[in-house]
Amino acid sequence: MFLVLKLILAGYVSVLESASLLSTALPMMMTAAGTLKPARVFVIGVGVAGLQAIATAKRLGARVEAFDTRDVVEEQVNSLGAKFVKIDLGETGQTDQGYAKELTPEQIQKQKDLQSEVCARSDIVITTAQLFGRPAPQLIDNSTIEKMKPGSVIFDMAVESGGNVEGSEVDKVVIKNGVKIVGYSNLASKVSGHASLALSNNFNHWVCDFYDKETSKVNFDFDDEIIKSSVLVFEGNILNERFK
Ligand code: NAD
Repeated sequence: MFLVLKLILAGYVSVLESASLLSTALPMMMTAAGTLKPARVFVIGVGVAGLQAIATAKRLGARVEAFDTRDVVEEQVNSLGAKFVKIDLGETGQTDQGYAKELTPEQIQKQKDLQSEVCARSDIVITTAQLFGRPAPQLIDNSTIEKMKPGSVIFDMAVESGGNVEGSEVDKVVIKNGVKIVGYSNLASKVSGHASLALSNNFNHWVCDFYDKETSKVNFDFDDEIIKSSVLVFEGNILNERFK
């Protein structure tokens, strides 16, 4: 559960950090001196972090578009008041656990070509695309960056697992063609109070549920779903299938 909360916090932080690097405001402002158009935000990858990035950008008044290879998320994107960008890549799908399947090189190229116009009209592009247990796919290359407006921001949330953006670097802001490419890592640490609260809460529940006061020992009952998925190594043996 903590991992999910960490991703939610990271999605929130990605929008705040991107907004702070823009020279324009996010919401539409109608004033006697004139009207300012809302910023356009494009979120690529609508998993746990992407959904929170959409919700945060919407709350700040931006006009938000999003894309994911799992078309089941279209309804979730719409329910947040954002627009799902339709890109037909043929067969994509998801695994039994809800993770995206890897695309073929031809599908990746098609995605890059078709989403490039959306990137070009956006002020902020946030990429969160990941593949479970494999390096992240590169989805934005220099040809797209060259089409983007100087001053716009690309926030690569997948930078630590290989990166979705050509040239992004961990913990750096790289400027290409006037576009700021952000590769900040450990985003939950920017809201450390809530991150620590969530982690300690998680540990507290685990200990309270499985510590046996009479024997003063943790009760490792491997028929229990939580024990099965949270204990990685026991008495020298790797037990957890996903960890293996
Ligand atoms: P993730 O971090 O692995 O990936 C982020 C998003 O990137 C996903 O929505 C994925 O579909 C998307 N993506 C991958 N390739 C893409 C591409 N080429 N273009 C656009 N988007 C692309 O995923 P996540 O946020 O952890 O969760 C995704 C799904 O997996 C959710 O339905 C979630 O409920 C499920 N799940 C998550 C966990 C977890 O602990 N995070 C555990 C079990 C199931």
